[in-house]
Amino acid sequence: MAEIRVQNLTLGYHRHPAVHHLSGAFVSGSLTAVIGPNGVGKSTLLKGIAGALKPLEGGLDLGQLKRHDIGFLPQQAHVDTDFPIGVLDTVCMGLWPRVGLFGGIGVDKLKQARAALTMVGLEGFEERPIGSLSRGQFQRVLFARLSVQQASVVLLDEPFTALDERTQRDLEKVIEQWHRDGRTVIAVVHDIAQVRRFFPDTLILAREVIAWGPTAETASDENLSRARMAAEAWDDDALVCARDAAA
Ligand code: ADP
Ligand code: MG
Repeated sequence: MAEIRVQNLTLGYHRHPAVHHLSGAFVSGSLTAVIGPNGVGKSTLLKGIAGALKPLEGGLDLGQLKRHDIGFLPQQAHVDTDFPIGVLDTVCMGLWPRVGLFGGIGVDKLKQARAALTMVGLEGFEERPIGSLSRGQFQRVLFARLSVQQASVVLLDEPFTALDERTQRDLEKVIEQWHRDGRTVIAVVHDIAQVRRFFPDTLILAREVIAWGPTAETASDENLSRARMAAEAWDDDALVCARDAAA
């Protein structure tokens, strides 16, 4: 099953750690919010799980998961919205990892893509060029694309940022459906009220794990201020972290 384990995991860029010594697990079928101040490594962790970044140290155990089992929506997804492609075709791109570029998309798959568009509230938008969509509509298309990809793990980096209230609520419903389907969902979010209301589990990051577990236990004001203090104390120019130096 889709359990993701990290063991003393350190991720970074050009040998500089960005997050370090993370240990814990995303249980199969869990729905986890990743929160923390800016620049503490939330996106870095998602990139690591997605396989876009190799660990500098420690382990990332994806169990039986294959690359195409992990769906990833990066922060401010870089899709060229001037590219002349329609909504339905964009959703169908999510099928490529499974059918292959030349596998062909049959009636069945098209049906799936149309159903996904209905699920995100974009029925009737099939032929619209993506360049004509609002930010919220485009985010709905990206959610539909993730849906047809049928990834057992879905990574969402700030999926709600800069979206209107209604789009946020609609996309929450899509995530709820993924959760019911047993997918493992990990999302970077900023709205602490939303975290407490919607996400059963929370990981608070500040270059290291501040707290990780059921939201009711972890998302306390005390832990949030600990995260802020830890983020402020981090020295970006240090070549080794204090913990390694002390060892
Ligand atoms: P968050 O998503 O929590 O805001 P990030 O994971 O984006 O934080 O960044 C964590 C740290 O890694 C920051 O200090 C950031 O400057 C650095 N960083 C992020 N991306 C890169 C990159 N491509 N090259 C070098 N450093 C990076
Ligand atoms: Mg980020």
